[in-house]
Amino acid sequence: MNEEHLSCVDCGARYPCALIYECAACGDILELVRDEKSTARLDGLISERVSLGEGETPLLRAPDDFLAEIGFSGRLWFKDETRNPSGSFKDRHVAAALTRAIALGANGVVCASSGNAGASAAAYAARAGLPAIIVVPQRTPLEKMTQIGAYGAQLIKVEGHYSNSYDLALRIAREAGYVNLTTTYINPYGTDALRVVGRELSDQLNGDVPDWVLVPTGAGPLVKGVVQGFADKAGGMPRVVAVQAEGCAPVVDAYDKGLSAVTAWGEPTTIASGISDPLIGYEKDGSYTLRLVRETCGVAIAVSDDEIRAAMRRLAAGTGIFAEPTAASSVAAAEKLIAAGIIDRKASIVCMITGHGFKDFKVYREMDMRETSVAAGASLDGLLGERCREDAAP
Ligand SMILES: *Cc1c(COP(=O)(O)O)cnc(C)c1O
Ligand SMILES: [Zn+2]
Repeated sequence: MNEEHLSCVDCGARYPCALIYECAACGDILELVRDEKSTARLDGLISERVSLGEGETPLLRAPDDFLAEIGFSGRLWFKDETRNPSGSFKDRHVAAALTRAIALGANGVVCASSGNAGASAAAYAARAGLPAIIVVPQRTPLEKMTQIGAYGAQLIKVEGHYSNSYDLALRIAREAGYVNLTTTYINPYGTDALRVVGRELSDQLNGDVPDWVLVPTGAGPLVKGVVQGFADKAGGMPRVVAVQAEGCAPVVDAYDKGLSAVTAWGEPTTIASGISDPLIGYEKDGSYTLRLVRETCGVAIAVSDDEIRAAMRRLAAGTGIFAEPTAASSVAAAEKLIAAGIIDRKASIVCMITGHGFKDFKVYREMDMRETSVAAGASLDGLLGERCREDAAP
């Protein structure tokens, strides 16, 4: 008797666990389903787990000054996923997907990525001693591409947006016989691992369920992870907010129009590279994510690049958390939903901070910084700001 199987989220067709990426009957998403009692199989896998110490990230409470600045009197936490080994939550997905790939006989991996999934796949492939091919859009932030190269992976830069990279990775996986670690819903084992995020949140809040969890959203596996994790805990479900950038918001667009089917986005234009996914050819991923969001009575909202920049700045200077643009979109969305009265000023909120600020310096470098260059041995006259001088006065 099998303790686990794959099941189609749409037609319910069942498949034994294997390296397959879509339902053979209807083409929709496969999810990993395990028996209530099937702990044996999982425990067996743990000794061979490929791991760099991912997960168990801190949940940090927002300081009072930060709350005052955004006019909020409830409780706000940041789930700091920047602490994962390669700097984003994608490590959770990739660690599980790669562990399973090896158990099922992988001889190499390929991953389409807007940067973070690729860095993660490259890191874990290096750890496991497997060759990795990472396919990214040409305009991926330099820091992310450099990280991928440093781990020794082969980096392929493809013209245009993320969906072109997605397509090339599919073809490479088929041609080379490599396992596809792309972190859309394509790999059911990776997606399944994200449910641990929801469980950790529940544990860190001592079983309390926050009113809202805000999630930067591309295809949406992290949304599913949060939903599944809270479902596992059976203590109640937060309302989940799918956050996208105004320059690439296919899920929000369908939400706003009251549609159930998500349509692909044309040309993405946003500084939030991690969620710059037009979903061309796998629109079903967006539709599935939107269905999950609606089931939690959640909302989908888009934020502008300027709102993201302001949130990055506020988060770094006001809380000490250094986030890449994509990761700060959840904070921008929280501010926006509070201001609009959709999130109550006394609510409890968790913002997912999905990726590290080290991954995209350019956006920060273009902001005003309190920076001065001086000659060695320079006089302090005029060097310390007004405030410092006042503070030092008797
Ligand atoms: C991939 C990514 C996301 C989006 O995650 P999905 O599960 O694809 O919706 C959000 N933030 C960062 C930093 C990412 O790298
Ligand atoms: Zn199906």
